[in-house]
Amino acid sequence: MSQTTDVSVHDRILAERARYVSAGVSTPKLVVSHADGARVTDVDGRSFVDFAGGIGCQNTGHRFGPVVEAVREQLDEYLHQCFMVGVYEPYVDVCRRLAEVSPCVGETQKSILVNSGAEAVENAVKIARSATGRPAVVVFDNAFHGRTLLTMTMTAKVKPYKAGFGPFAPEVYRAPVPNPYRGVSTDDAIAGLKRLFKADVDPATVACAVLEPVQGEGGFLPMPTDYLARLQELCREHGILYVDDEVQSGVGRTGKVWAVEHYDGIEPDLLVSGKSIGGGLPLAGVTGRAEIMDAVPAGGLGGTFGGNPLSCAAAIAVLDAVTEPGFLEQATELGQTMRARLEALAARHEAIGEVRGLGPMLAFELAEQAPEQASAIVAAAFERGLLLLACGMYGNVIRLLAPLTIDAAELEEGLALLEESVDAAL
Ligand code: PLP
Repeated sequence: MSQTTDVSVHDRILAERARYVSAGVSTPKLVVSHADGARVTDVDGRSFVDFAGGIGCQNTGHRFGPVVEAVREQLDEYLHQCFMVGVYEPYVDVCRRLAEVSPCVGETQKSILVNSGAEAVENAVKIARSATGRPAVVVFDNAFHGRTLLTMTMTAKVKPYKAGFGPFAPEVYRAPVPNPYRGVSTDDAIAGLKRLFKADVDPATVACAVLEPVQGEGGFLPMPTDYLARLQELCREHGILYVDDEVQSGVGRTGKVWAVEHYDGIEPDLLVSGKSIGGGLPLAGVTGRAEIMDAVPAGGLGGTFGGNPLSCAAAIAVLDAVTEPGFLEQATELGQTMRARLEALAARHEAIGEVRGLGPMLAFELAEQAPEQASAIVAAAFERGLLLLACGMYGNVIRLLAPLTIDAAELEEGLALLEESVDAAL
């Protein structure tokens, strides 16, 4: 005899999640049924405007038409090959496109494709070590580079990313970054880096410095324009490779293909891409000039699934869309609209200390360095049908990661929900 229960699908899945999925993965109450563009629908039919994008992976929106079409076509050809077993064109095509849009120094650009941002950061460090013959890595305050052993070492937040997971990888050294709102200037940050070279690590042993041009998980902190120039100068003086981690800030998120393009005269040695590049499929990459990328002997880089054909087909569609005329202009306009609304919101709420970002990669920081108010805003937004994410060392920053393709009506709906949520929570 079948038993009838009145447990909803939503509650059943969450109960099974609690029963079968590790508590080590933090999850919200959202149980997704489907998603399109800027909208996610849950299993109870509740519709949400999505300002989270699966943590910055939907710059072109959920199920972006050209991505779905490209993946469908690829499905009929082959799924997996392993690039180390059989060469396939989509992998090469992604690398060609990455070379064409690379902001890195050098004429001839090459790439490697992997599965995740963390894996790409690890590979960038391996490549930098191999190319320079040096062991040390410089990272920065507020950094987030991933959850693997090396990348969690490089990440600058103890809970939840590091506590209990040591010992950490050796030869990782941390310097300050400018944070004008909290009183750290470019001069302070440069002085901190120079002090690091005096006190802790000989710059002649540093392979690379790895920095997000707009720090993502660390609080949507854009680097001041003068800082990157001075960092680049110091790196060049000491033969240190400058690695630009654009996993979150890249693929149009700031209104340029790469955020570093906002900074005149800055040419990184290596660029790390990820997240939105796969249009919702797992893909990440490292790009840089040929002599650096070729410094690793054959077999030293790679992986079973890196540059999976489906992900590559999706990435070709994404990179084509992002580089089409009009896409970045629309993203820039989106940023202007959103910034004006956030500034008006901040003017009404003393608790909001700063609105900041670069183009449409925007956030606001709450003055109080504690997570409660941001958590209350995220919860109020969820109640009202808006998906939002907090970030920052103290969990006190609300970041906006709406699709760059969002239409005017959905944007208005999302912003109105955000305003209501902030009014209700603060
Ligand atoms: N680098 C940056 C700047 C990121 O924001 C992230 C993820 O949030 C990573 C690296 C790690 O990427 P993944 O989660 O795909 O490993």
